[in-house]
Amino acid sequence: MSKDEAALFRRLGIRREQDLLLHLPIRYEDETRITPIAEARSGDTVQIEGEVTRCEIVPRPRRTLLVELRDDSGAMGLRFFHFYGSQLKQMAVGRRLRVHGEARGGLFGMEMVHPRYRAATPGVPLPQSLTPVYSTVAGLGQARVRGAVLRVLRELDWDETVPPAVLAALRLPPIGDALRGIHLPTPETPPSALAERSTPGWRRVIFDELLAQQLSLVRARERRAQQIAPVLADGDAERRLLAALPFKLTGAQQRAWAEIGADLARAQPMNRLLQGDVGSGKTVVAALAAARAIGSGWQAALMAPTEILAEQHLKKLVPWLERVGVRCAWLSGSLKEAGKRAVRQQVADGDVDLLIGTHALIEDTVVFRRLGLAIVDEQHRFGVAQRLALRSKLEGASQTLPHQLMMSATPIPRTLAMSYYADLDVSVIDELPPGRKPIVTKLVSEARRDEVTARVRDAAAAGRQVYWVCPLIEESEALDLQTAIDTHTALSAELAPLEVGLVHGRMAAADKQAVMNAFSAGQLQVLVATTVIEVGVDVPNASLMIVEHAERFGLAQLHQLRGRVGRGATDSVCVLMYRPPLSAGARERLKTMYETQDGFEIARRDLQQRGPGEFLGARQSGEALLRFADLDRDSDLVEAARDTAVQMLRGQVALADAHLQRWLGGREEFLKA
Ligand code: ADP
Ligand code: MG
Repeated sequence: MSKDEAALFRRLGIRREQDLLLHLPIRYEDETRITPIAEARSGDTVQIEGEVTRCEIVPRPRRTLLVELRDDSGAMGLRFFHFYGSQLKQMAVGRRLRVHGEARGGLFGMEMVHPRYRAATPGVPLPQSLTPVYSTVAGLGQARVRGAVLRVLRELDWDETVPPAVLAALRLPPIGDALRGIHLPTPETPPSALAERSTPGWRRVIFDELLAQQLSLVRARERRAQQIAPVLADGDAERRLLAALPFKLTGAQQRAWAEIGADLARAQPMNRLLQGDVGSGKTVVAALAAARAIGSGWQAALMAPTEILAEQHLKKLVPWLERVGVRCAWLSGSLKEAGKRAVRQQVADGDVDLLIGTHALIEDTVVFRRLGLAIVDEQHRFGVAQRLALRSKLEGASQTLPHQLMMSATPIPRTLAMSYYADLDVSVIDELPPGRKPIVTKLVSEARRDEVTARVRDAAAAGRQVYWVCPLIEESEALDLQTAIDTHTALSAELAPLEVGLVHGRMAAADKQAVMNAFSAGQLQVLVATTVIEVGVDVPNASLMIVEHAERFGLAQLHQLRGRVGRGATDSVCVLMYRPPLSAGARERLKTMYETQDGFEIARRDLQQRGPGEFLGARQSGEALLRFADLDRDSDLVEAARDTAVQMLRGQVALADAHLQRWLGGREEFLKA
């Protein structure tokens, strides 16, 4: 193979000879049969064979090569718009051809446009299996790819890397049979089963892929179990914090805290995801964890994906924690250099117990004296690069590895969680604090905007507050900003004498904070905002939310936004205003929002509508490793793969290594992010 050709194969993800075997067909052509010409129906893709009875170039209306092919049953026209002189010879009158293509009823009977054809050699038998068609790249012909794959397939002698008992229990075929059955299926294989990847061969390949992923995740988990973390076991600060809280923990919060607290008291680093719907009260659990770490003589860090969210944490946590003697500090990119330097110094000297901020926390210049716990809010919103930076920060923090607590309001369905987060333990808060009122969701066309503003006035007259959300315009941040500014100007005039505030992502931190404070204090009745308020904002008196152009938002975003109301004692309303006509997807999303408030159900439908890759953000780790499995369709295999991985790593390590090597080669690094 030439160097250039090797480069082309690499673009298909093929580096090693064995990778060719996992370059699986995208579809098939059936060349195992010859259809009598008279039986070909319009729209059928068929193979026919016959003798050329006409071959001529017709100059008008467009230069065309017209060929007529006859067998005993009838005649088929073949039409070529692009052709070479040599083709005239190959298709000269009297030649026998075997032709493959889609038959169409034309003006002058059945015909095929640009069919594949070759000389028919009498006596050569028809293929016994379907002909695979592979994805390829420009410069690498189908015949070359197919030739390369089938050559390796003929010589295939892969050892089994899956224990026979597992295969028997799952009724999966040997790997060699599975691969042969996918590359060269018998003509009897139902096309739908091939397309849906539900043949036994496909199930086997999918299982092997999932097994590789699980092996690698379980390994990562075992590596972590061998690392040493500080034992955070002093419960004094945490008890004082609990006593000072203005409310009692819900049962779900208590359970989650019990799990986290137990992890912290162990000498292995915790790696736990705290999952709970919007408003379920994750922050207080994080505060308890911080109190435990600090009370035990260590520092804690809390990192949030946006400045506004980090500020909300600061506002919420500082009054709670300072009461129990915790020294808090704030660090974000928008701080002046001198301010940053001062904070960094305090952190390095150990004069700060809890550092709250954005990803500025993980910059190289920040060095903790004794970091014992890192809390990451809305962790799925951080990119892989940031998560890797956090990891290396933690590993470099001290002799021991800090505990890690991640929080997410996006409920992740079980199989997805197992597949993407097998190295994570998960605690779930599945109960909202008491006294929450359900939120009524209304779908209103933009044409009825006047009714909506009337509602805003009524709410303000009743002493309540209103969020007015403008959409994010992905293509243009400037335009996005302009929309928010224009909306603010228009609403200020329309709603006078109500006080209307504006907050958006491009504002200076101090200005943003001032507006948020004014809204919290009730000085503003209406807050116009871009999606910066999507997460974390907490003003219980705000009981009406208007979302403009709701059709442009994703489901998760709408759910997060809606969670900003319904936090007080009064009934709340969320008005999703849309501009018709709606696309099918937008209609589906709005319908979902109207029908349910259950974050888990919304996540499930979101997953269904978008697929797992996008659902978790394309940057999500394990994703790059799953080429064939579909976590929704193959959920039974995910569970089986998990069990098998644990079992193999206990007793069949060499087999596990061979399996990983075959499936991942050098790609295991992906998983560590
Ligand atoms: P999220 O899980 O979305 O981060 P928060 O932690 O911001 O939710 O909590 C939402 C609101 O509920 C906050 O105002 C918080 O103080 C309040 N809260 C949390 N736990 C309880 C509880 N057990 N009882 C009453 N209110 C609570
Ligand atoms: Mg939160």
